[in-house]
Amino acid sequence: MIKPLDHILNVPVYKPGKPVEEVKRELGLSEIIKLASNENPFGCSLFVKKAVEREAVNINRYPDGGAFYLRKELSSFLEIDENQLIFGNGSNDILDMIARAFLDKNSEVLMFQYSFIVYKIVSLLQGATVKEIPVECDFSRNLEKLLESITDKTKVIFIDNPCNPTGFANKKEEFDEFIKNVPDNVLVVIDEAYFEYAKEHGVPDGLNYVNPINPKIPRKNVIVTRTFSKAYGLAGLRIGYAIAQKEIIEILERVRQPFNVNRLAQVAAIEALKDQKFVEFSVKENEKGKEFLYEEFEKRGIHFVPTYGNFIMFKVDDAKMVYENLLRNGVVIRPAFGLDNYLRVSIGTMEENKKFIEKLELLGFKCKI
Ligand code: PMP
Repeated sequence: MIKPLDHILNVPVYKPGKPVEEVKRELGLSEIIKLASNENPFGCSLFVKKAVEREAVNINRYPDGGAFYLRKELSSFLEIDENQLIFGNGSNDILDMIARAFLDKNSEVLMFQYSFIVYKIVSLLQGATVKEIPVECDFSRNLEKLLESITDKTKVIFIDNPCNPTGFANKKEEFDEFIKNVPDNVLVVIDEAYFEYAKEHGVPDGLNYVNPINPKIPRKNVIVTRTFSKAYGLAGLRIGYAIAQKEIIEILERVRQPFNVNRLAQVAAIEALKDQKFVEFSVKENEKGKEFLYEEFEKRGIHFVPTYGNFIMFKVDDAKMVYENLLRNGVVIRPAFGLDNYLRVSIGTMEENKKFIEKLELLGFKCKI
C-alpha cells in the first residue's frame, strides 16, 4: 500500500453536517429538517435561479477564470478596487490558497481554541505548527492574549469573527486595537463568513483594515474572507471571495486553480449581490428565529452561547444521545467539534425551529417555567 507524507496522517478529517439525502437513505425517513450546516433556510434570490437557468446552456465552456463581470459587480458593491478581490470555490478554497501561499514546516499559525476547523486542516497540510489560544470560560476571546502569543515564527493568524461553532464575535473597538498592534510581518486572516448576520451588532467591518477609512489604523497584512454560502443562500454552488491589498491578492493568484469558480456560481453571485432585499429578509428572519430559540432554550433551562451568526451552540449532558435521537426523529443538527457537551443548531425557518423544539421536548427537555 502506498504511503502518504507523514504529516498528512496527523491532519483531522473535516466532517460536514450530514446531507439530507444520506439521512433519508440511512434511516429510511422521508421528512428531514437539516439544521446542521448554517445554510440559508429560505433558499436564494429568485433572480439567481433564473440566471442559473439561463447560464446552463453554456456549461460545455470553461468559466471566466478572472470572473470579469462578478469582479466588477462586487467591486462597485464594496467600493473597493477590482484588483483587491479574489474569488474561491467557497471561502474554504481561499483559506487553502492562503495556507499554500504563506505556510511551510517552519511557520507557526495562531488561532483561538474552538475556531473553524478548516484553519487547522489547511495549516497542518502545509506542515505548519498550529497554536490554539484558549478562550475564556464563556467562550469569549481575548485579543490581547492573541497578541501576546505572537512569536518570531508566527506567520498567519486565523480569526473567524463571528466564530463557528461558538457564535462569539469580538467587537470593533478591541479589534481596531488588535489590528493596530499586529506586527507587519504577520498576516491576519479575518474570516467573515457570517458578516451579513453580524454587521448590525457592533462587529468590525474587515474592509476598514484593508482599505482604511480611519487613518489611525495603518495598512496591514490583512485578508478578509467572505462567502455567498450563508446569507446569500448559494452554499451548493460553492463561491466565496477575499479582499486584501493588491500585493497580497497577486500572491494568492499564483496558487489559485485556473477555473476554480464555475460559470453557474459566477452568474448566481452577480444576481445575489443585486438582490440585497433577499439578504435583508434572510437576516431579519434569522433574528426572529434566534429570539424564538433563545426563549425556548431559556424556558427549558438549556444553556446556550449568545450568537452573532445563523446558528446557536447549546449545552446538554449527553450530546451524542441528543444528536442521535434528533437524527432518528428527522432533525439533523451538528456536534460542536472538540466540545463534548455541546451541540450546534442552525437557525431555520420558524416552522423548522418549532419542529426542532418539539423534538427536543420529546427527548425530555420540558418547559420549566
Ligand atoms: N468560515 C466559516 C467560519 C464557516 O463557518 C464556513 C462554512 N461552514 C466557511 C468559512 C466556509 O464556507 P464556504 O466554503 O461555503 O464559503
